Parts: sequence; structure tokens; C-alpha cells
Amino acid sequence: MSIESNLNTINNTLPAHVKLIAVSKTKPVSEILEAYNAGQRAFGENKIQEMAEKFEQLPKDIEWHMIGHLQRNKVKYMSNFVHLIHGVDSLKTLKEINKQAIKSNRVINCLLQLKIAKEDTKFGLSIKEVEEILISEEFKSLSNVNIQGLMGMASFTDDETIVRAEFKTLKNYFNNLKILSSSNFNPTIISMGMSGDYKIAIEEGSTLVRVGSAIFGTRNYI
Ligand SMILES: *Cc1c(COP(=O)(O)O)cnc(C)c1O
Repeated sequence: MSIESNLNTINNTLPAHVKLIAVSKTKPVSEILEAYNAGQRAFGENKIQEMAEKFEQLPKDIEWHMIGHLQRNKVKYMSNFVHLIHGVDSLKTLKEINKQAIKSNRVINCLLQLKIAKEDTKFGLSIKEVEEILISEEFKSLSNVNIQGLMGMASFTDDETIVRAEFKTLKNYFNNLKILSSSNFNPTIISMGMSGDYKIAIEEGSTLVRVGSAIFGTRNYI
């Protein structure tokens, strides 16, 4: 199957309120262009430097999404162009994003990553930690970051019951957090669902799915 036909197949199943991020990590610029020429504009990468190199080489109307774990010392390489940072999991990282956003004279949109899977390998905050960040004066003073919602990854398992329950948990947290809305917390996005589980994620309330291998084929690593 071609990248274009894979994209069409997926797009035909997405409800209008769900946005598709094409996860292009490890894939060459030529394949991203193939998806671009088929109409795709939002791409996700998990390494800041790889994303910055691709940004340089590709059309400037692409929306770049950082979906990986963040190294604070590299935030500066994407602060002038990144569209949405999905994997924020500490106040310290938010402060660095705010600092770089000020230098770039922008407001940078972010999502807080919640740990919903049982596996220890997944990064993310507990709901208590999320609340602590959102109610802190320190967070409220970060004028150049805007938290638009939550991101989460379900367990890597064939057991649909587990995956569905984890997505439900994220959706419930999202609903409960709305009362904490503030000048820099404007929750509208729930980023959940990948190639193997995006259909379940949509049924459970996802507004943004991050799909890689179902578009570009399998990767050699991560
Ligand atoms: C790689 C990755 C994806 C896409 O994974 P696929 O299974 O290839 O769709 C989605 N989200 C995150 C955070 C990823 O690292």
C-alpha cells in the first residue's frame, strides 16, 4: 500500500473532530513529502534534532508536533517553529519551554503527558502531579506557554479491555481538570491513540491521534 492510500484509508474513518498526526520519526524527508503531496500537513517526531533538520528541508506550512520525551537542553532547537509539544511531564520542562518561547517571541502550545499505562517504561505524570502543576503560582506566571490538554499512551497489549479502560481514565481526568482552566490552561485536546489502538481511542474521546506505522510502514527501531 502507498503512503497516499494508507492516509486515505485512515482519513475516511476519522470523525470530523479528530485530527491526524502522521508520525514520521525515523522516516526520510522523501516519504514525508509523499504524505505532504497527498494533503497531510501535521507531522509528529520524537527527537528534537531530527525534527529540526526535517523542518529546515520541508515546506513551511507543515505543523510539527513533538511527541517524544523531552530533553530540556534541546528545547531551544524547536522553540521557533514547533506547533504543539505533547510530552511535557514536569514544571521544570515547562519553565524551559516558557523561557525559549519568550526568546522566540511566541506562545508555545503544550500538552501534559499523563501516565495511564501500568508498564514502568512509559513516561508521564500522575493526576495529582498534573493538578499540582496547574494550580501552582509558578505555572500561572508562565506567560508564554499554553496548555491545551492531555496526552497519554495505553499499555502495549492485545487486551482491548485494558487499553479501553486506560483511555477512559484519561478522558475522565480531562473532564475533571476543566474546572482548573486559566489564562494558560485551555483544555480542548486529548492526544491518544496510535496505529494499533486509535480506533478504540476515538471511541473513548480522543481528539488527536498519532499514527506512524499504519501510514509509513513498520520502522526499524522505536
Ligand atoms: C512512535 C509513536 C507513535 C506512533 O506509533 P505507531 O504505532 O507507529 O503508530 C505515537 N505516539 C508516540 C508518542 C510515539 O512515540
